[in-house]
Amino acid sequence: MKFIDEYRDADTAQDYARAIADLTTRPWTIMEICGGQTHSIVKYGIDELLPNKITLIHGPGCPVCVTPISLIDQAIEVAANSEVIFCSFGDMLRVPGTEKDLLSVKANGGDVRIVYSPTDCLKIAKENSDKEVVFFGVGFETTAPATAMAVYQAHQQNLKNFSMLVSHVLVPPAMKALLSSPQSRVQGFLAAGHVCTVMGYTEYEPIAAKYHIPIVVTGFEPVDILQGIYLCIKQLEENRAEVENQYARSVRRQGNQTAQNLIQEVFKIVPRQWRGIGEIDESGLGLREKYAQFDATSRFNLFHIQSQESSECISGAIMQGVKKPHECPAFGTKCTPEHPLGAPMVSSEGACAAYYRYRQQTVLMV
Ligand code: SF4
Repeated sequence: MKFIDEYRDADTAQDYARAIADLTTRPWTIMEICGGQTHSIVKYGIDELLPNKITLIHGPGCPVCVTPISLIDQAIEVAANSEVIFCSFGDMLRVPGTEKDLLSVKANGGDVRIVYSPTDCLKIAKENSDKEVVFFGVGFETTAPATAMAVYQAHQQNLKNFSMLVSHVLVPPAMKALLSSPQSRVQGFLAAGHVCTVMGYTEYEPIAAKYHIPIVVTGFEPVDILQGIYLCIKQLEENRAEVENQYARSVRRQGNQTAQNLIQEVFKIVPRQWRGIGEIDESGLGLREKYAQFDATSRFNLFHIQSQESSECISGAIMQGVKKPHECPAFGTKCTPEHPLGAPMVSSEGACAAYYRYRQQTVLMV
């Protein structure tokens, strides 16, 4: 299959691993931002192919994991309302809120539906004019255009029974926050290819310059990731700090202008809480005043909800690359995919889920 098979070829992967080993003269720590890349790394054992001098750490790019617990609790309250049809991507249903999750609301009779596109909710709203239809809009710049399209169309169609809980987050402010932390060990970044497909990579250029750090826009297949690591190590060894594009088959420097215009039309930049990490300035998208009638938080008056994070979950440290999942005392014992304490154990892009799925035997025996 074009653009898949050649990026999973074992011989090419081995060639890159050897080239990386030949290039590496001293220890380097690289962070892959995206949870999808984390899953590829752990699934294909890419970290185990690399020389010991190279450490890969996992970043905050799991949209489900970083959705603040306050939004999960708001979602749970709205979904339990018998007048509401609550629509969400499937991954959100098992993420623990302060006391329960959306799946338990569904089990208790709540009308909680999994959708694959936010615009599906508009159809549901038109077919159920006696109900309020609420969509849980989460994710990075990748999913924001589809969410924006749903709001834009709802506005054009003057839909009265549709609203959203919006929890979109932006990658560059999180990178800056990580690099500004005294705990940061990051010396190079693999940037998320799909985010850059939408946004391009001009936003990364001032970050690379200011923090003198290489940033390589990278895809998701094993050879993509190894190429990304190769380019990053090459820059580090040569003391360069530039933005390079490994994922040129999908990403252009300016990104997708139509998608960016749609995001701009519907959303404004706001401060946003990141679960386990805290508030990061200018790191979220919120509805502009023109579209404020679609804000479910106001429509259902959800401001009173008090949330409490699990004291046992160290997801914040994991998503900042300070710890790895098996360093969490609850990993694989008190916290499993069946009984998760934190979102990274249930999300398909969560680092804890990746280690549990592909490395459970290894890491629990260490
Ligand atoms: S193993 Fe569970 S409790 Fe520990 S950090 Fe991961 S999600 Fe949180």
